[in-house]
Amino acid sequence: DDLPLALDKALTEVERQFDTPTRLLKDITDRMLWEFRKGLAGAPTEDESFMPMIPSYLQQIPHGTEKGTFLALDLGGTNLRVCEVELLGDSKWRMKQQKYKVSEALKVGEVTALFDYIAGSVDHFLTEIGTSASEDEKLHLGFTFSFPVQQTAIAAGTLMSWTKGFECKNAIGKDVVQLLQDALDRKHIHVRCSALVNDTCGTLMAAAYERGDCLCGGIFGTGTNGAYVEDIDQLTKMGFQGDELEENKRHGLDKMVVNTEWGAFDNERTVLPFTIFDSRVDRISINPRKQAYEKMISGMYLGEVTRNVLLHLVDSQVLFKGYSTRALNAHYGLDTALMSALEAPFVPNSPASSDPLAAVRDVLTSSLGLAPALVADADCSAAARVSEVVGTRGCRLAACAIAATVRQTEKTTQGQEKELVFGLDGSLVEFYPRFEQRVRDALVEILGEEDAKRVKIALAKDGSGVGAALCAQAAAAME
Ligand code: ADP
Repeated sequence: DDLPLALDKALTEVERQFDTPTRLLKDITDRMLWEFRKGLAGAPTEDESFMPMIPSYLQQIPHGTEKGTFLALDLGGTNLRVCEVELLGDSKWRMKQQKYKVSEALKVGEVTALFDYIAGSVDHFLTEIGTSASEDEKLHLGFTFSFPVQQTAIAAGTLMSWTKGFECKNAIGKDVVQLLQDALDRKHIHVRCSALVNDTCGTLMAAAYERGDCLCGGIFGTGTNGAYVEDIDQLTKMGFQGDELEENKRHGLDKMVVNTEWGAFDNERTVLPFTIFDSRVDRISINPRKQAYEKMISGMYLGEVTRNVLLHLVDSQVLFKGYSTRALNAHYGLDTALMSALEAPFVPNSPASSDPLAAVRDVLTSSLGLAPALVADADCSAAARVSEVVGTRGCRLAACAIAATVRQTEKTTQGQEKELVFGLDGSLVEFYPRFEQRVRDALVEILGEEDAKRVKIALAKDGSGVGAALCAQAAAAME
């Protein structure tokens, strides 16, 4: 790379700030293990914060032989999704689904109106799309509800707070499963909500069904989170003791899926490598001092960190001749998808690899609105390098969660030859160039070649559909 001296110097300084040497990754992994154990023992307090480690009450991990027809409901994004999943018992499934728009009025109105709408959508789905289940069979439904809930049983959980633009009245503190069941019953719909599902737990269940086994389900999308299979005796805050513990184990209930909420790792900022760019992103975010780890890793924030670094270089007069654009000035003006577009041309044999600088220039001019005259070749390679530096740090930090999960579970998995399956979902896993390779390189550094080799990273799709159906199946089987 033949970069002008000032630009080269500024980039080297940025690289230094985003560096994640092996020693640091190991320290982060150790600290994460400490938070795992704290969270398994009790709830965070005002004085001490750590990951919530929420018990899911899921104690049966699918093998791929499960059968039956189940409904899945997913609320938490732009749309409400209703699915009917037919588990075929050979790691495969058939699915019908329909999306329903949740209006802005419903998002801020009475909570009963929202749940009446949800029940109405289930009714519409069953009558219009049809079901393959027989008439007199009561359908079990798995409800993926992607808001903070305090789960108290497999089919019970109270809403702690709304996020993502929802602000319904008379909902906080209520059991969301009860709200749904009451709404279904009011309409005389023959459906039973039998599982309340966190999307990472659903991802784990879906991956286990498809592959016959899974240790951890993880999401690297808008946010990041993971759930893994823990020994019931490590989950000390559940309070199982003596005879009760033995009784559980005798019935094969010796494990439980735990939702780590690892996006909240190191909110106390003990080890994560905060740069001034991270601090700026955090300060202006809607949840300052929260989700510290997530803000260095996930799709919602990676582009924003990159944007801040690019602006720093612009303001230092070493990039784009010192000019910015409206997109580059706008809060969240650089979507993480653009990082994929900036880096993909440098992947050997990729579509644009014959002329990567031209491909990058195209992204910079078309998506960030830069005038072609402001974008020299050096600016193109610098922009791509900034993206790579920020993204690589994200992937290497993501590896720490995987490594911590491997370490936490090694007592039970040690000596077994079998691979440790991590079922991962989200746009970063699916689309970000060399995501897995970067994670894998870091895993080798943290865990060593031998242990890292056991980790199998699998793309696990549709935790809120197939996964939720499997949770309903597991719950129905427990009754
Ligand atoms: P969710 O986590 O909300 O279910 P996704 O897994 O699709 O949904 O993640 C959406 C996030 O992924 C957004 O923040 C978006 O910026 C980012 N994203 C979308 N496409 C890409 C891409 N091609 N490369 C990298 N990030 C992407």
